[in-house]
This record gives sequence, C-alpha cells and structure tokens, in this order.
Amino acid sequence: MRWSSNLGSLFGITVKVHATFALLLIWVAVSYWNEQGTVGAVVEGLAFILALFACVVLHELGHALTARRFGVQTRDIILLPIGGVARLESIPEEPSQELWVAVAGPAVNVVIAAVLAAWLELTDGWMPVEELTTTGGSFFQRLLLVNVFLVLFNLIPAFPMDGGRVLRALLAMRMEYVRATQVAASIGQALAFGFGFLGLTGSNPFLVFIAFFVWIGASQEATMV
Ligand code: ZN
Repeated sequence: MRWSSNLGSLFGITVKVHATFALLLIWVAVSYWNEQGTVGAVVEGLAFILALFACVVLHELGHALTARRFGVQTRDIILLPIGGVARLESIPEEPSQELWVAVAGPAVNVVIAAVLAAWLELTDGWMPVEELTTTGGSFFQRLLLVNVFLVLFNLIPAFPMDGGRVLRALLAMRMEYVRATQVAASIGQALAFGFGFLGLTGSNPFLVFIAFFVWIGASQEATMV
C-alpha cells in the first residue's frame, strides 16, 4: 500500500503503518491538550492510543498466525487510523478454517480483556464506570473497555468485520461459497440499512459511519468472488 512505512516485523510478518496514522496521533494530542492543558495529559493520551494499537496488532496477529497454521501466508499487517488489516495471501480453502481465522482476532482481545480484568482485580484498581471519560480515568480499565468494544464491533455479522467472515464461513458449510458470500453480503447490507436508519433518526453520526463502512464492505466482498 502506498504512503505506508515499515514498523518492523513480528513472527516474520511485516507490520506497516499508514501515513494518515500521524493525523490520528496529532488529533489525540490536540484533544488531550484542549481538555486538560498539560504535557502529562498529552503523553498519557498518546500512550493510550499506542497501547490500543498494540492490541490491534495482536488482534491481527491472531488472524495471521491462525491462517499460517492452515498454510496461508500473510503479506503484511497495515495499521490505519480506523484499525488494522492483516492482508492474507488467500482465503483459507475450508469454511471451517476461515471460521477459525476470523474468530482468532476477537479471541485475542477477549484474552487481553481478561488479563486486564485480573490485573485490576489484583491491584484493586477498578473505578466506577461513570467516572471514566474518553480522555480521563483508569488507563487499564479504559483499555479493557476498548478491547471489549473491539470484540463486539468485530462480531457484527457484516463485512468487512470479522463477524461477516464468520457468517460466510457458517453459510459456506451449507451452501456453495459464492452463494454464501452473496447471502452474507445481503445480510450485511440489510444491517447497514438498519444502522443508517437508526443513526439518522437518532442523529448518531457514529452509526451512520458504521452503516457507510458496512455498505462499502458488503459490496466489495460481493464483487470479489
Ligand atoms: Zn479482525
């Protein structure tokens, strides 16, 4: 992908970061500065976003290393401001393999969340959830919540989320692959329509954004096969 530079490699897989990622870091630094006005807050904000993206890299490694077990190599992992992408050389042949590869990513975030919960439990570090804000409150508890969010978000049964691949794999166990993709894409577009409707009537720009994202993902996947 153009405009991306190598960060290094993990388990023989190149990890790249896209240039637009710098915009995200600048945006985070500026919002922490505006909200709290101290260098310490800005450093903590940047540390948080980097910790979050470390979790995203582990999630993508979950996909990549599971795919490797089925003989599918990963070209690279690219970090974009909206998340990470593990670019597999191909889609695993058996639907059950695609299912494992898709589930492995969110499973990594479940493990991270469990480790963080154990840590907060051991250190007595829990805070009341209403005291947490997007920029303030317990670092590890916010990281835990973000991991839970990543699991739920990725399990939405629509492309390009992992849930879309899980759905296709389940359908492909019962029907032909192309047909399974079409059905999964249609379900994704129906969901996108629902999100869009809820987002517009409830004036929730985040839902409208997801709707757009899912709609594009569904049509791309449908034309790919
Ligand atoms: Zn994933």
